[in-house]
Amino acid sequence: MKPVVFSGSFDPVTNGHIDLIKRARTIFGAVVVVLCYNATKQARFDVQERVDFLKEALAGLANVTVDSTPGLLTDYMKAHGYTTLVRGLRSAHDWNHERTNAYFNKQFDPDLETIFLPANEKYQFLSSSAVKEAASYGADISAWVPPCVAKALKNK
Ligand code: ADP
Repeated sequence: MKPVVFSGSFDPVTNGHIDLIKRARTIFGAVVVVLCYNATKQARFDVQERVDFLKEALAGLANVTVDSTPGLLTDYMKAHGYTTLVRGLRSAHDWNHERTNAYFNKQFDPDLETIFLPANEKYQFLSSSAVKEAASYGADISAWVPPCVAKALKNK
């Protein structure tokens, strides 16, 4: 079976993302986590920092690798021969956003299939932006992010 791709901006990675990656690995055997970035979009952490957080948080998880692309995800997937994308759904808001993405991805590559996994109920209200906002007020966000991210947010 080919690895499945789990994509995102991961600014920064949260325990919700990690939960999804572990569950995708159980189903599909191998996961390539692809950080998609757009040089014109403002992010709290730069691409290298976000990739390093992912690598540290996922170290020791066999068959999980981390990569990044500045371009269209469908171009990246075609170039690597990947045809299955996993995305997470926390809410109806995610669903509305994700079904549009899935539609456009299918236009760009008719062979690409998108699989949705529901968020773990523990993390259904968790987002990278909520964590960044809480951390900016000095809140303890260590239950929601890997230790390397908690440390970096504290230092920012
Ligand atoms: P993007 O900018 O592509 O939405 P994110 O890093 O915010 O990137 O999210 C990547 C994927 O992870 C998306 O499919 C999103 O719905 C999912 N996701 C984000 N947070 C959670 C969470 N707490 N639980 C489950 N899935 C999540």
